Amino acid sequence: MKQIPEAARAVDVVFETDVLVIGSGPGGLAAALAAARAGAHTALLDRHGCFGGNITQVGVEGFAWYRHEGTIDCEGIGIEFEERAKAMGAALPEPQSISHALDAEMFKYVADVLVQEAGVKPMLHRLCVAPILENGAIRGVITESKSGREAILAKRVIDATGDADLAARAGAPVRMTPKEEMMAASVMFSMTGVNKRRFIEQVKADPQTYKDWTGNGEWDITTTGKEDDLFSPFIRKPFKQAAAAGLIPAGLSTIAGTWGTVSDQGDLTYLNLIHLPKIDGTDVNDLTAGEMEGRRQAIHAIEALRRFMPGCEDAKLRNFGMTLGIRDTRKIDALYNLTGEDVREQGRFDDAIGIFPEFIDGYGILILPTTGRYFHVPYRSLVPKGVGNLLVAGRSIGGDKVSHAAVRNMMCCAVSGQGAGAAAAISLQTGQPFESLDIRALQRELKRQRARIT
Ligand SMILES: Cc1cc2nc3c(=O)[nH]c(=O)nc-3n(C[C@H](O)[C@H](O)[C@H](O)COP(=O)(O)OP(=O)(O)OC[C@H]3O[C@@H](n4cnc5c(N)ncnc54)[C@H](O)[C@@H]3O)c2cc1C
Repeated sequence: MKQIPEAARAVDVVFETDVLVIGSGPGGLAAALAAARAGAHTALLDRHGCFGGNITQVGVEGFAWYRHEGTIDCEGIGIEFEERAKAMGAALPEPQSISHALDAEMFKYVADVLVQEAGVKPMLHRLCVAPILENGAIRGVITESKSGREAILAKRVIDATGDADLAARAGAPVRMTPKEEMMAASVMFSMTGVNKRRFIEQVKADPQTYKDWTGNGEWDITTTGKEDDLFSPFIRKPFKQAAAAGLIPAGLSTIAGTWGTVSDQGDLTYLNLIHLPKIDGTDVNDLTAGEMEGRRQAIHAIEALRRFMPGCEDAKLRNFGMTLGIRDTRKIDALYNLTGEDVREQGRFDDAIGIFPEFIDGYGILILPTTGRYFHVPYRSLVPKGVGNLLVAGRSIGGDKVSHAAVRNMMCCAVSGQGAGAAAAISLQTGQPFESLDIRALQRELKRQRARIT
């Protein structure tokens, strides 16, 4: 490829802090709150204009749709997100579980309040473009923004970008599932003007179950059997009818999926209907193509719903997610990489930073934690090899394909985030590096912060 040289330049150090968290999804937001609550001066940086990551930027609202009567759930900051959202009118009952779905728009404000209350320094609209490295350890980052290029220094850094951007740029070994096998990307959207009474009457007249997912590529799943007859807010029939009527172009047979909530005001939200395979979320050309193709398909989906889904006749697009939804990119090679067996067979670890129910959703597997089974999330899965002073939180922690289908879930990202934030603060207090942290001190701090460790 043709190249041009870039001139070397000095960059202003605009801020210095104890703990710097890059990325503010469920992983990064939990990490920043945990670090600050453990006494560390903490800054939370994001490329967009709101905190919340996929929740607020993509519109992913199903925060705990796995929860059933028999579920043994994690505790700590993830549960606090849900409870706080409920208290602030930013959540509605979720239709397939005993949980609440977050209101993606209102959660922007909930996250602001949480950040301010914890005394975290907010740093929005900054894209982190490079690590500042010294003797193999991260000492800060370079950002690009409307203010130009800036440097931020920190004693400890947490990569919660979802894509392990910082770890990869610092030279830590990472892996990606081959593009052909990656989980699909999605343009998420919500509609408004839905007649709730007619919509719900139709859902009740023709209730869908997880068994109905199978038979359409992206939604083909293997379960343990106990999931099959449970209710799922799944829609496929209107799109098949629209295809048969010529409303959806021939060849576009992949539109199907779930809805999240329908409000009294007629908002039908978290429409997870568009699935775009072979999109690499670390490739801007793929991202560009995915955004535009996703919007095209979403408009066809809306036409189909208006014609064939009772209650949607007068509805229209309310909003697309601010950005394309990416499920699957880089995973670090960590001191311990979680395995499919760990998440399916109740893995137990001495260095647990939290628990997560046996909820596996992805790569053709759906297991719901209806029986109280759960696994430990080990601290070592947050520690990348090859780079010092850095932890990773959220969906890019170390693990194989099947374990990713568990730890990518937002509540589990909050578990790894809280663990990372508390670990950064403990590392500062004890002067120990991340590779040899006092795990008992970390677990004590997490218990103090009301996380469930075992
Ligand atoms: C369409 C879709 C539907 C899903 N449905 C569900 C569901 O129903 N339930 C569930 O539990 N999970 C679901 N998931 C998965 C879940 O949303 C993600 O796995 C989870 O949000 C990951 O959390 P995270 O904190 O690791 O990263 P993210 O939520 O992706 O947050 C990363 C943050 O980092 C910021 N960032 C990234 N790079 C940079 C950079 N270089 N500089 C500065 N900031 C940066 C981003 O803007 C973002 O705010 C879904 C995912 C998608 C895409």
